[in-house]
Amino acid sequence: MACELKDMVRPTIFTLTPYVPGKPIEEVERELGIKGVIKMASNENPLGPSPLALEALKKAIARVNIYPDSNCFYLKRELASHLGCGEENLIIGNGSDEILKLIAETFLNPGDEVIYGWPSFSEYEFVSKVMEAKCIAVPLRDDFTLDLDAIIGNVRSKTKLIFICNPNNPTGTIVKEKELSDFLERLPGDVLVVLDEAYYEYVTAPDYPDSLKFVKEGKNVIVLRTFSKIYGLAGLRIGYGIASSEIISCINRVREPFNVNLLAQEAARAALNDSDHLERSKELVLNGKEYLYKSFERLGLRYVPSEANFIFVDTGKDSKEVFAALLREGVIVRTGDIFGYPTYIRVTVGTPSENERFVRSLEKVLS
Ligand SMILES: *Cc1c(COP(=O)(O)O)cnc(C)c1O
Repeated sequence: MACELKDMVRPTIFTLTPYVPGKPIEEVERELGIKGVIKMASNENPLGPSPLALEALKKAIARVNIYPDSNCFYLKRELASHLGCGEENLIIGNGSDEILKLIAETFLNPGDEVIYGWPSFSEYEFVSKVMEAKCIAVPLRDDFTLDLDAIIGNVRSKTKLIFICNPNNPTGTIVKEKELSDFLERLPGDVLVVLDEAYYEYVTAPDYPDSLKFVKEGKNVIVLRTFSKIYGLAGLRIGYGIASSEIISCINRVREPFNVNLLAQEAARAALNDSDHLERSKELVLNGKEYLYKSFERLGLRYVPSEANFIFVDTGKDSKEVFAALLREGVIVRTGDIFGYPTYIRVTVGTPSENERFVRSLEKVLS
């Protein structure tokens, strides 16, 4: 008797919706037959990687015949001193995406419950569903901030994980120090909170939480950061988690031995020490946001003030159409429909000339 493949596959797999990545530049150029396309869709650093990271990569490339260090010894030592934590408080991943997956694999049994704000980063749902957990998406408040009271209101005995994206992707809003510490105080002790701080380095708000403090206080939190965003190493795939040594050693049990490649480890070490590049990148984004805010105001568009390197803006029109029209102008952004905001787009802050080109194109497309 013929066996149907779909009967062999875990039923959960059919509940998963594939991740929608930002459209790659090459694909747009190929499909539209145009050149000089710019991508302002995936919150990458438009200045590129740190020059020091590029140097380190050149040196390291001759050694790719050998396996990478499974323990990321040197990177952990430098990160620990950079962050003021212990090496035993760190886990390095193939992007922080991998750490999200490892956390889900470590903690979630089928039927456990997971809570996150919505709209937010889509990986929280993905990694949870793979483990057959039940996902509860709590809508953001009207001002696009995370509703921690509503999240607490959804905590039950089956609640295992809460994902807090801070700043939140796609809105760029933050949860403040006081709110977060009160929230953690109120949570039952058997709930683990993942603080995803992929855009940490861009934040300037004085009341942004010092989340490592919660780790040091022994709270059930894991802080996630990445080299993909401000450090400009998205293509190498490297991110890290910070938590108590007990949490880290549990997550380490499900980690593949060579999950972080040798080039990524070397580039990350070099990037970490390039404070010039970091400062230039921050400056670029701060100035870029000012310019974009002013332009949106001039065009009469509502936007969400952002603590990250992207802005969620209401175009007042079907964002899929705006997206397609911008694409024809050679500008790639993200549509808000996937986040439940069909007239919004999310645009990554680019270089001054990219920002100007985006605004010119948007003006043309909306008129
Ligand atoms: C980009 C992003 C990440 C993933 O980063 P990688 O380290 O590249 O896997 C994680 N969380 C959020 C909110 C992001 O926007």
